[in-house]
Amino acid sequence: MLLFTPGPTPVPERVRQVMAQPSLHHRTPEFTKIFKEARELLLDLLKTDDGVMFASTGTGAMEACVTNLCHKKALIVNAGKFGERFVKIAKAFGKEVVELRYDWDTAAKVEDVKNALIEHPDIDAFFIQICESAGGLRHPVEDIAAQIKAIDPDVTVVADGITAVGVEPIDVSNIDALIAGSQKALMLPPGLAMVGLSHHAMRKLGDGAGFYFNIASELKKQREGTTAYTAPTTLIIGLKEILTIMIKEIGLDEIYDQTDRRATATRVALEGLGLKLYPEKPANAMTAIYDEQAEEIRKIMKNRYGVNVAGGQDHLKGKLFRINHMGLIEPHEASWVVNAVEMALRDLGRREYEGLANKIFNEIYFEE
Ligand SMILES: *Cc1c(COP(=O)(O)O)cnc(C)c1O
Repeated sequence: MLLFTPGPTPVPERVRQVMAQPSLHHRTPEFTKIFKEARELLLDLLKTDDGVMFASTGTGAMEACVTNLCHKKALIVNAGKFGERFVKIAKAFGKEVVELRYDWDTAAKVEDVKNALIEHPDIDAFFIQICESAGGLRHPVEDIAAQIKAIDPDVTVVADGITAVGVEPIDVSNIDALIAGSQKALMLPPGLAMVGLSHHAMRKLGDGAGFYFNIASELKKQREGTTAYTAPTTLIIGLKEILTIMIKEIGLDEIYDQTDRRATATRVALEGLGLKLYPEKPANAMTAIYDEQAEEIRKIMKNRYGVNVAGGQDHLKGKLFRINHMGLIEPHEASWVVNAVEMALRDLGRREYEGLANKIFNEIYFEE
C-alpha cells in the first residue's frame, strides 16, 4: 500500500534503521552530542534566530505559541480545521480572540488583517497556517506578516508551518514563531514538534507561561544541549538522520524543487482528467480535489490500486480527496497515484482510460 496522506508520511528506511538502535539515556554526553547536532540542523531548516522542540504532536507547539506569545488579544485566521484549532486553544486558555473566518478554499486577505488590527489596537499576536491542510490552501503569510510589522512591529506573528516547513522556502523575515511537526515533510513518526523563534518572540516570552509547554524554560535547557524533561531520544536521533539527508546530502533547494514539480505535475494531470482543484491558491504540500464522488474514488484507489489518500473533514467529508506531496517521493510512485485516479474514474464509468494522467504527469515532472 502506498501511503499518500498529508501526514503521517512514510519514514525512510535509513531513518527507521537508526531509530532501531539500542536505547540511549538522555542525560549522557553521547545523547547531548546528538541533540546539539539535531538542533543545529533544525535551525538551518527553520532559518529562525533560535528554536525549541517539544515531545508532542504539532498541536502541542500550537498551544505553546498561544500560551507563551499572546498576552492580550489574539487575531486568528480560520479557514479550516487547523485555523479553528488555534481559536479553540486560545479560548481554552481564556484568551480574547478576534477571528477572521474564510471558506476553506479561500486565502486570507491582507486588507482584512489590516482592518482588524486598526479596529482592535490591543491585538498583540497573530496566528495563521502557512498551508491550511483542511483544504490544501496556501495563505499569503509572508505578505500579511510584512503588513502587520509595518503597522505595528510589536505584534507577534505566529505561523503554523507544519505542512510548509520542508516543503517550500519560507521567508521568515517577518515571522516570529514558525511551527513544525515531525510526521509531515520531516518524514518522522508523530510525536515531535518544533517552534522556530525570532529575537522579537524571545523578548516577548519573558519567563514563559505554563509548565510543560513553557518555551522560555525549555529554550534555556535546549541551548545547553539538553531538555527540561526526558527527551524523546528516538525521535531526536531520527531527526538528526533525516535532516542530514535533507540538508547535507540532497539539499533543501533540490527538495523544494522536486516537491514543486511533483505538486504541479499532479495538479495539471488531475485537471487534465476534468477534475476540480478545491483551493483557490493550492499549497505544494498536497493536492485537494473537490468531487461529489470523492469517497468512491478514495475507496477504489485503496482497494484496487493500493494507494491510500486522505478525505475531507467536517462539511467536506465525502467531497474531497487529498494527495500528499510532502517528503521524499519517487516520481514513479507519484505518477502511479494520478494513474490510479484515472483508473478509478474509468471504474466509475466517468471516462475512458487512456493513460492521460500518467502522460501529463511525466511530461511536466521531467520537463527540461
Ligand atoms: C497536521 C497539522 C497540525 C498538527 O496536528 P497534530 O495532529 O497535532 O500533529 C497542525 N497544523 C497543520 C496545518 C497540520 O497539517
